[in-house]
Amino acid sequence: MKNQKFMFGLGVALLILAGCYTVPETGRQSFIIPLGDEVSEGAAAFAEVKSKETVSHNPVYNERVQRIGERIAEAVGADLPTAKWEFVVFDEPKTINAFALPGGKVGVYSGLLVLAVTDDELAIVMGHEIGHVTARHGAERMSKGVLAAILGVALDATTQDSKNHDLVLAAYGLGAGGAMLKFSRDNESEADLIGIRYAAKAGYNPRAAITFWKKMEKEKTGGRLPAFLSTHPSDERRIADLEKWMRATMPLYEAARVRYK
Ligand SMILES: [Zn+2]
Repeated sequence: MKNQKFMFGLGVALLILAGCYTVPETGRQSFIIPLGDEVSEGAAAFAEVKSKETVSHNPVYNERVQRIGERIAEAVGADLPTAKWEFVVFDEPKTINAFALPGGKVGVYSGLLVLAVTDDELAIVMGHEIGHVTARHGAERMSKGVLAAILGVALDATTQDSKNHDLVLAAYGLGAGGAMLKFSRDNESEADLIGIRYAAKAGYNPRAAITFWKKMEKEKTGGRLPAFLSTHPSDERRIADLEKWMRATMPLYEAARVRYK
């Protein structure tokens, strides 16, 4: 009983400590418990990935990812004020995937560069991943796990330790040994919306989101499931949502493309 009271008190204290966070671009109010320095943990996690994977020195790949990344970073601007942007290509032709970590650390696997033929398509994927970061979906997921643990609700196995690089990686969808964890359906949808807005503001055509997701779906029916699709299931609702958002997003693109001509 005493223990229960203590846990309840701790829960209340954490709730007071926890801040409300307004998600950029969508305005949603999110609830986050500060569990450490996300930015430095993101940087440490990124260093870990770089030490384990093969970093590509292909000049064409790197120039492309860097160029698109810099334009998106500019569009993100104040949504990620602490960012120390870094865009790295990993040499894995069979891996169709990308990820982003707090602090503006972005990894793109070379397999994705082949499938995302146009810069518009690549910008959509990078924008989506960066959207998870500016929306702080990983921190939100960890916060929910911590609060759930304190309140005695069933805890997801991946959210037990709050001070761990692997946890940061897991929270942003990249589990230990390359295992991927899914974001919630709502988080995915929100990253889609934020992603097309960043891409559009960077002068990339947001309509590429629709063609790209449909192309990804075809990859699946071709017999192999891209890593990206295993964590980013695409279906009719996703396409319908993207169609719905285009009317508000196209003007951002029209305004930005003049700058990048
Ligand atoms: Zn996602």
